[in-house]
Amino acid sequence: MALSDITKAIAKAETAAGRAPGSVRLIAVSKVQPLDRVEAVLNEGHRLFGENRVQEAAGKWPDFRARYDGVDLHLIGPLQSNKARQAMELFDAIHTLDRPKLAKAVARLAQEMGQCPDLMIQVNTGEEPQKAGVLPAEADAFVADARAMDLPVTGLMCIPPVEEEPSLHFALLAKIAERNGLKELSMGMSADFEAAVALGATYVRVGSAIFGERVTP
Ligand SMILES: *Cc1c(COP(=O)(O)O)cnc(C)c1O
Repeated sequence: MALSDITKAIAKAETAAGRAPGSVRLIAVSKVQPLDRVEAVLNEGHRLFGENRVQEAAGKWPDFRARYDGVDLHLIGPLQSNKARQAMELFDAIHTLDRPKLAKAVARLAQEMGQCPDLMIQVNTGEEPQKAGVLPAEADAFVADARAMDLPVTGLMCIPPVEEEPSLHFALLAKIAERNGLKELSMGMSADFEAAVALGATYVRVGSAIFGERVTP
């Protein structure tokens, strides 16, 4: 598949769900992809990208940003507190705010830097022990705490368990967002972005369906 196939599939899913055209934004997940594939997508005019490691993003995006206007770069992978400053300098949005310690570090840096990327809170909807994210039962309190720290929380993000029907998780995330007055929903990947669009995703994160299978480093 190619970028245009994915944008068409998203448009179709928006229409099928009775949603306005353009209400879902496509994050092209460029982690571990050869630079020429990323550049090809930039040359098609796409500007919204996702990376899941700070270090990897720092190695390629300053150069792309110097050569392409309007790049919008989102962190979709776990963030360690000691990399928060670098992440806040590099990314326009962070989808993985997931614990009090990180929230405090980001809040302190935001004050010092006078700016902060848009933030989304990762929710561990499947309550998987190995997975990052706040538990669904703790999400409301975490949203409130983050707001009390003046953090610009715009929405929620989830990665459903691989073995389960993703729609149940997308619906749960949408419900938590709605009751907290959050408008962004970052959910859906190559295998399930259409289901995510049907359940209200405003960002889908698609990697391999655009770029091809990831080359393991
Ligand atoms: C890698 C990744 C994606 C994209 O995965 P694909 O299945 O290749 O579309 C989406 N979200 C997160 C958090 C990822 O790490």
